[in-house]
Amino acid sequence: MNELQVTRVKIAAHHPFNSNQKRKRSGPLTDTQSECCDLCGQQKKLQASGELHICSTCKNIFSQVKNHPEKIKTIWCELYDEPILPRHKRPAIKDEGEVPEVMDGKRYRTVDRENNKWYLSISEVDGQPVEVFASTAFDRDNELQSRISNLTTITRLISLILRHLFLGEGLTLEKCLKQIQRSSRQRDDLPDMLYGVLSRYSEQQINEPDKQQQSNQS
Ligand SMILES: [Zn+2]
Repeated sequence: MNELQVTRVKIAAHHPFNSNQKRKRSGPLTDTQSECCDLCGQQKKLQASGELHICSTCKNIFSQVKNHPEKIKTIWCELYDEPILPRHKRPAIKDEGEVPEVMDGKRYRTVDRENNKWYLSISEVDGQPVEVFASTAFDRDNELQSRISNLTTITRLISLILRHLFLGEGLTLEKCLKQIQRSSRQRDDLPDMLYGVLSRYSEQQINEPDKQQQSNQS
């Protein structure tokens, strides 16, 4: 055995953990131990904080998050464009299927510049807007179908943004595409064309049955 091999054997024998042991902790740490911190990954003396085993530096961060969530929320919003600590402790929804079945709402009657009467309806959760609908008689409208599909695109996309802002629903290109696709009423109307070009940027295939189901219902 040459000198190099001897050195290697010594390191292996004295190293307290191999990589497998590091991942499997037999239980909660009762005393401080030297291991890799769950947050910063540095090998330091660790303490248990909830389910994490973290170093004293990270323990300070943990305490800040626990005791001053409003500060963390402010910092988070500056760094990341996504909701944190949803209002009223309401868990974030995954998609529009999870909005409450019964919601409060307000309906606003208004008149546009061409003197058409409109009803704008806002659904609310905890006083926050989460969904919009708009309806009008389209009395003198020659291009009814395309106007309705454009209107539907606007309200569906606004509703998606509102659910993101107030219910914590994540925003993805696929969700935008799904709403645009469902707004289409005829082949080659504006939403259909937008869907066609934007879906080129999507890795997921949006399933066609949605659109067929929609047109059957309407
Ligand atoms: Zn740490």
